[in-house]
Amino acid sequence: MTTFTTIDLNWTGRPQSIAALLIESADESAIIDPGPESTLGSLRAGLKERGRTFQSVDSLLLTHIHLDHAGATGALLRENPNLNVYVHEFGTVHMIDPSRLLASAGRLYGGDMKPLYGECAPVPETALQSLKGGERVRIGEAELEVGYTPGHASHHVTYWEPQSRTAFVGDTAGIRVEGNTFLLPATPPPDIDLEIWNQSLDKIAAWGPERLFLTHFGFIENPSEHIRQYRTRLQDWTELTRKLVESGMDTAEAEKAFVDAIASEIKVTLPTDAADHYIFNGGLRLSWLGLMRYVRKKALKNNPSAA
Ligand SMILES: [Zn+2]
Repeated sequence: MTTFTTIDLNWTGRPQSIAALLIESADESAIIDPGPESTLGSLRAGLKERGRTFQSVDSLLLTHIHLDHAGATGALLRENPNLNVYVHEFGTVHMIDPSRLLASAGRLYGGDMKPLYGECAPVPETALQSLKGGERVRIGEAELEVGYTPGHASHHVTYWEPQSRTAFVGDTAGIRVEGNTFLLPATPPPDIDLEIWNQSLDKIAAWGPERLFLTHFGFIENPSEHIRQYRTRLQDWTELTRKLVESGMDTAEAEKAFVDAIASEIKVTLPTDAADHYIFNGGLRLSWLGLMRYVRKKALKNNPSAA
């Protein structure tokens, strides 16, 4: 028997922001995306409820290395040096030496980085299992297939568990809080690429999942409708960004116009509490920066003389 347990990391004291997922099968266990170091206490408490400690977990399966998913990895290795850490090959170098990852996160978050995410300790190279996509990872009786799913990040993978027909998609299918229907893309810099992202969604859809697990937040029971909607949302956001970039507004004005447009859409769609939660979790400013970078890069590719 294989069981999947959502552990709510209560990020910044808010439930349903970041989820870690515990897999238990036969005598083995793994965590998909342990979260940031700032929520280690919640992770420890969640494991304890299942009768576990950090020492009784065998593996960490990372979807990607962003701090909200993988920041705690180095700290967990200190507590349990036997952990196997699965991560895409483009991410391994930043796990071993997180200085560039931290510098780029620092540019986005400034002084908020430490309070939001805690520290990000280096991971010993010997703990890392490098992935390309196509591998199978065995956890007890469960065998998860690794799919390379870039778009949100160039080193993003999705784990597919065929018995339960569940795809653990990290941030590849956006933000949708369990129990809500509203769907919000997450498009932070620097890797956003819509074409590649759509191919990753094709790959996930081709598995024929019955459930998706989103880090933000929880299980989604109608994957094909979710994925269809998500493609439309990504397209709409890209179009909005393109219009703003081409409008000739200065960047700060354009950013404000983007953030205001999305925030007001959220506010008219959802009750106040839920709207605040989405806006807090959505990182709308980061999404603007990621899409702006993508739109500009694409314009340059189509018309190099504009440079
Ligand atoms: Zn995330």
